Amino acid sequence: SSGSPNIAKRLEEELKGFGLSEQIKVFQPGCFGFCEKGPMIQIFPDNVTYCEVSADDVTTIIEEHFVKGNIVEHLLFTDPNTKERFAADIPFYKGQLRIALRNVGYIAPENILEYIAADGYQALGKVLFQMTPLEVIGVLKDSGLRGRGGAGFPTGLKWELTRKSPADQRYIICNADEGDPGAFMDRSVLEGDPHSVLEAMMIAGVAIGASEGYIYVRAEYPAAIHSLQVAIAQAREYGLLGKDILGSDFCFDIELKLGAGAFVCGEETALIHSIEGARGEPSVKPPFPAQQGLWGKPTSVNNVETLANIPPIILKGAGWFSAIGTEKSKGTKVFALAGKVNNVGLVEVPMGTTLRQIIFDIGGGIKQRKTFKAAQTGGPSGGCIPTRYLDSPIDYESLAAIGSMMGSGGLIVMDEDDCMVNIAKFFQEFTMDESCGRCTACRVGTKRLYEILTKITEGKGTLEDLDNLEKLCHIIKDTALCGLGQSAPNPILSTLKYFREEYIAHVVDKT
Ligand code: SF4
Repeated sequence: SSGSPNIAKRLEEELKGFGLSEQIKVFQPGCFGFCEKGPMIQIFPDNVTYCEVSADDVTTIIEEHFVKGNIVEHLLFTDPNTKERFAADIPFYKGQLRIALRNVGYIAPENILEYIAADGYQALGKVLFQMTPLEVIGVLKDSGLRGRGGAGFPTGLKWELTRKSPADQRYIICNADEGDPGAFMDRSVLEGDPHSVLEAMMIAGVAIGASEGYIYVRAEYPAAIHSLQVAIAQAREYGLLGKDILGSDFCFDIELKLGAGAFVCGEETALIHSIEGARGEPSVKPPFPAQQGLWGKPTSVNNVETLANIPPIILKGAGWFSAIGTEKSKGTKVFALAGKVNNVGLVEVPMGTTLRQIIFDIGGGIKQRKTFKAAQTGGPSGGCIPTRYLDSPIDYESLAAIGSMMGSGGLIVMDEDDCMVNIAKFFQEFTMDESCGRCTACRVGTKRLYEILTKITEGKGTLEDLDNLEKLCHIIKDTALCGLGQSAPNPILSTLKYFREEYIAHVVDKT
């Protein structure tokens, strides 16, 4: 997004001109995570990271770093608080624990051999030759891995239910329809480590007894789609997809399906309908996809980040994974840290890390030394968390207890200048636009909520409007058919709970 392909091209050209193209190999890995300081160049094995590089800096880097062996000081990031200068030592990276993102930014995603060299496909080998499907499911259940797409359903249990549903065919679907405003963690995994997702889908195939998998990916993610296409072709070439995989009797293949931009297709039943060629609308559950999913067959729908966790769990064991995190939320979570925070980027931390640690230690605090006001987690389905909960551990239960949710991992930071009513209105406009229109509560209700919020922000609201707003939120929550509608009022309810005085100020002062 910030033009790094041009820099890579220039680097390759100039290295050739300097006669260094044989010794120094240029590759474009996925996202380094530190978006605030991109484009970045990391040099291995020197472990030097240059930040905010432009194409014009390329000659200097080659002359100084590669020819003379000097550090290019002005391109080196220096942490303003700790004064650390090397990426591995700065709090942004030091405070993280990367499991799902373990390879992103480190391997060349378009070279299957780099994934294999990073222990890739070893877990598949283990599952094929050393474990039974029930043992695989047992490991996942014991690991405590829960779905990272939002709902937090235990992955091992989902696989078990899918396997137990009698059928002649079952399916595994990777939900890569990441659509929350401000969320880009799945995109990073797909772009930077696509084989980890393919390998996990194959493991799921063995575990649930499926021979076909689908990846439902947003058409707006061209780099991710390209990365997946290359990875699938390479996996077929290396005998990792197709018939008799690695000499076993396991057969499995994966097909890509491109979503056309409907947010609601992230909901699993809507996603399944979309793959089937029907209108992307949710349906009533039960039956759940594990019982009756794609083409009426048992189907496990798993999110990208969930899948990326699976190969290391199989290799290192359930005990290793379940030792990370909190009592009920195991492992790590990737957050897309955005908004009024110094270090915008992708961060992966153990469950139970506090908001303060993420925003102030890893995120480097609030931009321009302003005051933190709130953090919005969970995208349009989540809520706004005020200062008093900065030290709450972030896990599924704690976030729900304070009126927000984990969601897929969007984390938007707001400062003293942000109007919380406007924030609620922003998310409300999003869900109103994205409502599929199937049920009245959501189709009409989100529109009415938006109208009331507009009235309030234009200084035309009354105290009665506030009451109506709250009542309508609860009606929609109780009566909408799917998660989109049921959670649409969350940003309003949480801001009404924690920032009611701002709503009242709009109404009373008419501002
Ligand atoms: Fe569609 Fe909204 Fe009803 Fe979900 S709640 S089915 S998005 S109208």
